[in-house]
Amino acid sequence: MYTITYSLRDNKNNSDDYYFDIALFTNEVLGKAQEFLGAYTDEYSSYIKAISPHDNTSKEEYFFELLILGVLWKVYSGDALELEKGPQHILSTLVSLRQKGGLLKPSIDAVRGFLSTIFLSPDLYDNMFTLSPAVKHLEILLNWLEATGEFKYEVARLTKWHKYIEIKPKEDAVNILASSIAFADWFEDKSDEFLGKYTPNVDRYLNEIRPSRYWNEDVIFCGRRRVEYHLNMVGAEIMNRAFKKAFQHTDKKLAVVPACMCISRDKCQAKPYGSGLSCIGCMKDCSVNKLKTLGHKLGFQVLIIPHESSLYSSWKKDSTIKEDVGIIGIACVLNLVSGGLMLKEVGIAAQCVLLDYCGCKKHWHQEGLPTEINERYMEKILLDP
Ligand code: SF4
Ligand code: SF4
Repeated sequence: MYTITYSLRDNKNNSDDYYFDIALFTNEVLGKAQEFLGAYTDEYSSYIKAISPHDNTSKEEYFFELLILGVLWKVYSGDALELEKGPQHILSTLVSLRQKGGLLKPSIDAVRGFLSTIFLSPDLYDNMFTLSPAVKHLEILLNWLEATGEFKYEVARLTKWHKYIEIKPKEDAVNILASSIAFADWFEDKSDEFLGKYTPNVDRYLNEIRPSRYWNEDVIFCGRRRVEYHLNMVGAEIMNRAFKKAFQHTDKKLAVVPACMCISRDKCQAKPYGSGLSCIGCMKDCSVNKLKTLGHKLGFQVLIIPHESSLYSSWKKDSTIKEDVGIIGIACVLNLVSGGLMLKEVGIAAQCVLLDYCGCKKHWHQEGLPTEINERYMEKILLDP
C-alpha cells in the first residue's frame, strides 16, 4: 500500500513488529532520559507535589515533557524568534475563538490558514537556526506554539516547567533547557535508527506535497517533521504505560474512532450518538464494523467522531463519556499525544492506539484512504494484566 508519510506496517501485512520495536526503543529512551534528565525531574516532581499534592504524574511522563521541550525547541525555536507580537496576538485570539466552535469556524480557519502561512509556517530545511537555551527564549517558543493552535496541551505542560525554571538560579535554568535539547539531539539520531523504517515518506511529503497545504488551516499540522512523528510514537507508548492501571480500573470502555476508519464516508449509515456517531454495521469489510464486532467480544463500545476536536469540545456534556469510562483513543500519529494529554488533564483514564497509517481526505489524501489499526494490539490493551 502507498505510504503517505508513515506506516506502522513497514511493507508487511500487519504492524506487529512495530509494537515490539516501540516497546524496546521506549525502554532505551527512558534509560537514557534518566542519565540526561533524572536529577531535574526528581526536583521538579517535588516542586509539583508541594503545590498540587494530588498530582500523580510519573517520572516517565516528566521525562517525556522535557523531551517534547527539547524536540520542539530544535524544530521551532528559530521560527518562533521571527514571530512579531501583533500577529502572535491575532493568531492566539483566533485559536481561542475557534475552540468555541460555532458558525464562524470555517471563516476563522480561512484566516488562520492565511496568517499561519505568512507568519508561522516553518522554513523547513532552509532555516535550522535554533535559539540558545535561555528562559526568555522559552517564553518566545511557548508564544509561537500557542499561536499555532496545534500544541494546546503540550503548551499547558511546558508552561508549568516555564514557571518552575523562572524561579531557578540562571545557571540551573540554562542547564535544564540545555539538557533537554541535548537529549532531543540524542533522540533524533537514535529514533531515526530505530523507527525510521516506519516513517519512510515524511521528508518526501514535506518537500513535494506539503507546499500544497500552504494557505490552509492545517499548514502547521501537515508540516510536522520526522522527529515529531517519532516523538509521538514514543509518547503514545509512555502514556499507555503511565495510564494503564487507571484505565484498567474503569467500569466501562469506549473506543473513540476517527471517521477516516470508515470504509466509505459517502455511504456510511452511522447514526448520531452522543458527541459522535454510532456504527450500524452496514458494511462487512469496514474497519469500524470489525472493531465493533471485537468490542462485543471484549466488552467495549465504539463511538465515531468526525474529528478529535469534537470530542475535546464536547466531552463535558457527552453522556457517553464520564469518569468511570476508560477511553481508547484511536488516531494517526500526529494527533495522539495531544489527545492523551487532554484526556489526562480532564481526568479521563485513556489508552491510545495508532492508526497503522494516515489517510483522511481533509489532510492527507485526495480521495481519502480508509485507515486501519492493529486489532491484536487492541486486544492486548484490554486483556493484558
Ligand atoms: S459499517 Fe459502520 S462505520 Fe462502516 S460504513 Fe457502515 S455504519 Fe459507517
Ligand atoms: S488521518 Fe489522522 S487527522 Fe485524518 S481523520 Fe484520521 S486521525 Fe484525524
